[in-house]
Amino acid sequence: MPEVLIIGGGVAGLEAALTLAEHEIESVIIEKELRLGGKASLYNCKAVDGVCQACGACLAGQRVRAVEEQELVKALVAARVAGMRNLQDGLEVDVETPNGRLTFQVRGIIVAAGIDTFSPALRAEFGYSHLPGVVTALEIEGIIRESPEILGESPRLAFIQCFGSREVGAGVPYCSRVCCLYVPKLAGLVKGELPGSRVDIYFMDRQRYEALYRPKTSFCTHIRAMPSKVHLMGSKELEVIYDDPETRKPTARRYDWVVLCPALVPGKDLPSLASLLELGTGRGGFLQVGAGGTTNRDRVLAAGACTGPMSIIESIASGRAAAGKMASELRRQR
Ligand code: SF4
Ligand code: SF4
Repeated sequence: MPEVLIIGGGVAGLEAALTLAEHEIESVIIEKELRLGGKASLYNCKAVDGVCQACGACLAGQRVRAVEEQELVKALVAARVAGMRNLQDGLEVDVETPNGRLTFQVRGIIVAAGIDTFSPALRAEFGYSHLPGVVTALEIEGIIRESPEILGESPRLAFIQCFGSREVGAGVPYCSRVCCLYVPKLAGLVKGELPGSRVDIYFMDRQRYEALYRPKTSFCTHIRAMPSKVHLMGSKELEVIYDDPETRKPTARRYDWVVLCPALVPGKDLPSLASLLELGTGRGGFLQVGAGGTTNRDRVLAAGACTGPMSIIESIASGRAAAGKMASELRRQR
């Protein structure tokens, strides 16, 4: 019988399960989607000329395969936590599955419920969903993977960073932390696939570590401005309007594709899950945690991006840290 129930089958949850297995602790992963791997498994390898760029995308598939081979880990997909009660020496958790309701009596829970992205539809002036050629970064990843020829031989692309981040009015007052590193790698992937492409990167702000990657995007034009609007010119050319950072005057540049790089936000189910488990949330609505993923509740730890925006590699480290803490707690209680 599993001793630990892990909510979320993304990289943090998978890593937590594998780490518990190293400590000979059985666990069960509850994943609401139909497959394991989470959002991390939707990204492409960003290696340039065979050189790894440490994006972490391949780690998702590796963790899924390792979990599938690990006897001490069970995974239920299309499953959701429906209730939780305290026991004298543990927790009782109800889980809805396609085959009916299951109840687990466990000694601990690790919440690794993942993350969502800011809905581009909330900023209608950028034309997502009604202008051809306005897409999200994740959609461009899919196009490059499936059929890069759709982009054209020498496309002009505008990447818009900080999209939806640092917007108090939209409920996203914080910096998403990871896109400063992600966007240059994505731009490098596009350039590698389509050497004739022209790439502009719009940004409001920059993380200091981004300077490390700036030389790798010397083929891009970096524009410090948040565009105010995207227009359709003719049948498929897109015009991006922004205030020129030097003259402060409205300026326009034309593109074939506008790629929105949206803010990372708490998963849409996180508020109800937090309420069900009686977990505290903090700034931006993410779960509030201390060292090793401790929460306001005994026996419940949290890991990964449901505790705040983080990269794939950071999520894996967070899952490992929470599982290590859980293992030492369980050992102490034995
Ligand atoms: S970490 Fe990223 S760039 Fe490196 S091999 Fe894996 S997927 Fe490719
Ligand atoms: S990580 Fe960079 S691109 Fe993303 S919101 Fe923060 S400053 Fe903007």
